[in-house]
Amino acid sequence: MSNVALIGLGNMGTPMSRRLVDAGNRVRGFDLVEAARERLRDGGGEPAATAAEAAAEATAVILMLPSSAIVESVVDELLAAGAIGPQTLVVDMSSSEPTRTQALAERLAAEGIAFADAPVSGGVRGAERGTLTIMLGARDADRERAHALLAPLGRVVDCGDVGAGHALKALNNLLSATHLWATSEAMQAGMRFGLDPEVMLSVFNGSSGKSGSTENKWPNFVLPGTFDSGFGLRLMLKDMRIATGLAEQVGTPSRLGADAVDLWAEAAEGLAPDADHTRVAEWIAAREVA
Ligand code: NAD
Repeated sequence: MSNVALIGLGNMGTPMSRRLVDAGNRVRGFDLVEAARERLRDGGGEPAATAAEAAAEATAVILMLPSSAIVESVVDELLAAGAIGPQTLVVDMSSSEPTRTQALAERLAAEGIAFADAPVSGGVRGAERGTLTIMLGARDADRERAHALLAPLGRVVDCGDVGAGHALKALNNLLSATHLWATSEAMQAGMRFGLDPEVMLSVFNGSSGKSGSTENKWPNFVLPGTFDSGFGLRLMLKDMRIATGLAEQVGTPSRLGADAVDLWAEAAEGLAPDADHTRVAEWIAAREVA
């Protein structure tokens, strides 16, 4: 049995904590929200009063937080409290910024602390079922340890050195967001022409227009009108900005990506702050009517 700390018990962290408990780990966790800490208890984990308390006896600390800035502040807190040291592997599973991730890993390496980035794709359902795609960026020396820790959560793909996972994740979400926008516009046009949306999706899914949006997001969250994928629109926009920033940084700015960021930012302004990202489909439908 391993002692694992999980900081960030939101839409993703909560089901991930359950998978880790079910795999036989002792899981101590922390979240700023009390209800999230209670959910951890319900799932067989042990809520702690602070992140440092959760991490104190852990050999692995998993972070599942909204952004790089928050990841850095939590790591600073853990360092200041002496809650992590050479025995600890810190794994950032949030969708963070790859260059900030590399800088953080350097800072931890100077203290003898191992670090890996392991962002995920597959959503809340993938977290519940242990079928996430996990994009691992790690030094060779830490790879085996990271694989053993993360195996209960899904399929671990070696992406390269530290930062590689976060780069790949951001690029994946730029594609995913672009697909969802394009699919939603195509669906609106087809439906207004009189096409049946179910027939449209069935044809797209057997043709070259297929994507995660035609296979999953539209049939499961948009058409039923539930908009409950569990992934916030603002988190998606954050990831898109990371990806376009990365493209710019390496000298190949994404023109389509920049337009997609503008469109999603406009939708974010018009929708509730906590809106699910699949609500862009609804927003596009309303915008077209106006
Ligand atoms: P979420 O907003 O549901 O959860 C984040 C949690 O972090 C919240 O419960 C919040 O209270 C907590 N938190 C914030 N600051 C904290 C702090 N200083 N200390 C302790 N807890 C703190 O977000 P989520 O959907 O679970 O996403 C988490 C990360 O995973 C994000 O980086 C997101 O981009 C990524 N992600 C989400 C999905 C998804 O489908 N929801 C899929 C893949 C990746």
